[in-house]
Amino acid sequence: MRGAYYPVGVFGGTFDPVHFGHLRPALECLEQLSLQRLHLVPSAVPPHRETPYATAQQRLTMLQLAVKGQPGFVVDEREIRRSGPSFMVDTLASLREEVGETPLCLILGVDAFLGLPGWHQWQQLLELAHIVVAHRPGWSLQDLHMPQPLQQMVEGRWLTDASALRTQQAGGVLLQGVTQLDISATDIRARIVAGKSANFLLPAKVWQYIQSQDLYR
Ligand code: ATP
Repeated sequence: MRGAYYPVGVFGGTFDPVHFGHLRPALECLEQLSLQRLHLVPSAVPPHRETPYATAQQRLTMLQLAVKGQPGFVVDEREIRRSGPSFMVDTLASLREEVGETPLCLILGVDAFLGLPGWHQWQQLLELAHIVVAHRPGWSLQDLHMPQPLQQMVEGRWLTDASALRTQQAGGVLLQGVTQLDISATDIRARIVAGKSANFLLPAKVWQYIQSQDLYR
């Protein structure tokens, strides 16, 4: 790769609904990895889990409401516009065509990272992008207890510094410390089903939207 380019980040999820546990680590990655921009990609039909509760359009709207006005965040609709299951490998391949030699960083929470061996064509992901694991600050790789195939795939690929992401297009793995927020969409949905408030776990505009659509009840 000639020269060094600031990377483009990719953060996928069902975002059912999007919450501060997604948004704050995403923003910290944007800043700490010096990303040009971060694509937030809601999945249409998640292949690795049950069908979302909110429709793709509702999840997209919530994401748009959540990040409106935040420089560097791009809500990316490509998985929702594409037919069939939302495979990350396809998303990265289409982004790779757009960005040319620019490094791509796929940002994953630890649970998603440890589940990678179940993903479609998962071994190709590192040919298309770096992988950044957003993790508890101060934790080390040994604490991750990776399954054997994942250990094999990442061997020799660990990067110790975010600046190394700029020197190659793909193929590195970086552990990035982020503020831990013990928030999950599952917990938010359970609170709503129980008739409780989800306020302050997600942006106020998203909470208002959930109420106006009578979602998750
Ligand atoms: P659910 O509870 O329905 O499984 P979720 O809150 O885990 O949803 P997802 O849309 O499945 O959200 O996750 C998208 C990405 O965000 C994944 O990479 C996941 O690891 C990460 N993520 C989710 N919650 C957090 C959190 N609280 N802190 C850091 N990363 C998170």
